[in-house]
Amino acid sequence: MALIVQKYGGTSVGNPERIKNVAKRVAKFHAQGHQMVIVLSAMSGETNRLIALAKEISASPSPRELDVVISTGEQVTIGLLSMALEEMGIKARSYTGGQVRILTDDSFTKARILDIDGDNIRRDLDAGAVVVVAGFQGVDEAGNITTLGRGGSDTTGVALAAAIKADECQIYTDVDGVYTTDPRVVPEARKLDTITFEEMLEMASLGSKVLQIRSVEFAGKYKVKLRVLSSFQEEGEGTLITVEEDKNMEQPIISGIAFNRDEAKITVLGVPDKPGIAYQILGPVADANVDVDMIIQNVGHDGTTDFSFTVNRPDYDKAIKILEGVQAHIGARAIQGDRTMAKVSIVGVGMRSHPGVASRMFRTLAEEGINIQMISTSEIKISVAIDEKYLELAVRVLHRAFGLDQAPN
Ligand code: ASP
Ligand code: MG
Repeated sequence: MALIVQKYGGTSVGNPERIKNVAKRVAKFHAQGHQMVIVLSAMSGETNRLIALAKEISASPSPRELDVVISTGEQVTIGLLSMALEEMGIKARSYTGGQVRILTDDSFTKARILDIDGDNIRRDLDAGAVVVVAGFQGVDEAGNITTLGRGGSDTTGVALAAAIKADECQIYTDVDGVYTTDPRVVPEARKLDTITFEEMLEMASLGSKVLQIRSVEFAGKYKVKLRVLSSFQEEGEGTLITVEEDKNMEQPIISGIAFNRDEAKITVLGVPDKPGIAYQILGPVADANVDVDMIIQNVGHDGTTDFSFTVNRPDYDKAIKILEGVQAHIGARAIQGDRTMAKVSIVGVGMRSHPGVASRMFRTLAEEGINIQMISTSEIKISVAIDEKYLELAVRVLHRAFGLDQAPN
């Protein structure tokens, strides 16, 4: 007998039929004697619908009121699933985040979980009930409803699993696991049996949308055994996110390729090459809450230098405007940009022990005539910024070059 937290995403609870299917799966585990805590998202599309509704009333709604509205989607699904379980003769009790008392800070729409009181849940589990908890929401110290950011139900699931010391946290979604890359771009992409937390964290931050990044951080920190599975398949082990690399297995050097289409590049030309210049350029950009990713400062000549960086495409116009505002003050000659950039990243803990990974990546891209405009690296990742029109080609050739289409033996 195990204590299992299962989280189901929006498509898995997208209509009454699917909710009944979730109930059947939960019933199966319950019948095997497991104690079950279920965390749900809102029906697919519902949170978007609620946000759109709010926007019809107010262009910039108060974040507190927005959370009151957008947290309702999950309240519907938890009630419906509990009813479906009771219809099958299984005792079930639903709880909103506030009822569990998932305590968060008060940053509405992107709150962080501070503490979870597991008492209600334990009492119900001990009485033989299935506990159904609304994902994505909590309550602050003052009793206000908060939400955890888009995709936040994953984080609810993992945080609950940590709080009640569950044996496993299973994330059920519309894919059957974590893939070497997006199968829509590379049909040969393979499902991974395991991936390490570090790799998953990089994949999530680089644009692989399987798990909310905060949930992965949480799982790594509290050593929650985390598994991603399909809610539309009866069988299958999904992908296990592991704390440690499996020392007994021959690890592939690269585990996956992540990419992001929505990048843009900005270059500030002919800035004086002197201390403080990076701060003068990036300070105002950061103050406007624009995230800067890759940064390059070229070697100076004649006392001036060029400075380039990437931002998310939706922030491009804002960033350009800010820089035009400070251009004279900085003494820059010109500001240029390219809003159609993409980022491709290879990720793998095997990079630590295998030299030559970067050169293989660069050679592979060169052979296809793909120009690398920027590079950034971490211990287990290499990212390049390229013209968006080469994105799919780049992902395909890298996938092949690193042998990801072949199952490891
Ligand atoms: N319903 C919320 C969203 O769409 C939370 C979630 O599904 O994880 O972002
Ligand atoms: Mg999700």
